[in-house]
Amino acid sequence: LEQSQIDAQKVELVGTLAASTAHEIRNPLTGIKGFIQLLQEKYKDSEDQYYFSVIDIEIQRINEIVSEFLVLGKPTAHHHAVNDLNAIILELSPLLGSEANLYNTELDLKLNKEPLYIFCTKDHIKQVLLNLVKNALEAIDKQEGKVTIAVRKFDGNAQIKVTDTGKGMPQEVQSKLFHPFFTMKDTGTGLGLVVCKRIITMYKGTISIKSVPNKGTEVTIMLPLTEPKA
Ligand code: ADP
Ligand code: MG
Repeated sequence: LEQSQIDAQKVELVGTLAASTAHEIRNPLTGIKGFIQLLQEKYKDSEDQYYFSVIDIEIQRINEIVSEFLVLGKPTAHHHAVNDLNAIILELSPLLGSEANLYNTELDLKLNKEPLYIFCTKDHIKQVLLNLVKNALEAIDKQEGKVTIAVRKFDGNAQIKVTDTGKGMPQEVQSKLFHPFFTMKDTGTGLGLVVCKRIITMYKGTISIKSVPNKGTEVTIMLPLTEPKA
């Protein structure tokens, strides 16, 4: 089997598993979360309060992983519509901004002057952008640096570029970026880019990554444009 076929099989397996187990994971988590909140209230004067926020963050993390798994399962079962890419990014900008704030990093949005209409489910594109911006922020790692999202019309497509001035990556890392579960991070899932590719491919677009160690990384996405609603 070729590597790409093995990757595709892994993605499919994760997706199938996720579809059948997501609720089984989330329901008990909701229970845990609820009782943790009760305990937190009960021990609100304790000096060990911070245990609760650690538990909360970890629960949040499990939820995020389950969400990533779910996208791998069935990203088609949504409500597609004609959306302006500029508007999607503006809607997402408060969340992106708060992520960038957490990292003390400047985030620059360069929108297109005219609307760029794509036929999509907004949440899918938002998830792609969020995954890419998170990677970019993690690559800068609170050092001096900047993340840029730029959209424009190019070659009859909508083009999105997410650029960072982070640590970049060597060739051997670049060749594994889209392998399920490949991560260089202690707490990474290695699914962020796999999810991005799954979504972009579903929209008949392309995603490519250029990176220079110690300089930064540029992710380029091309998505087919569509006509606005009459
Ligand atoms: P995760 O972020 O959970 O590790 P991803 O699929 O998002 O999984 O990314 C896989 C790996 O690719 C990361 O662990 C990191 O080594 C590398 N990577 C991705 N984006 C960037 C980036 N913008 N700059 C440097 N390395 C990156
Ligand atoms: Mg990631």
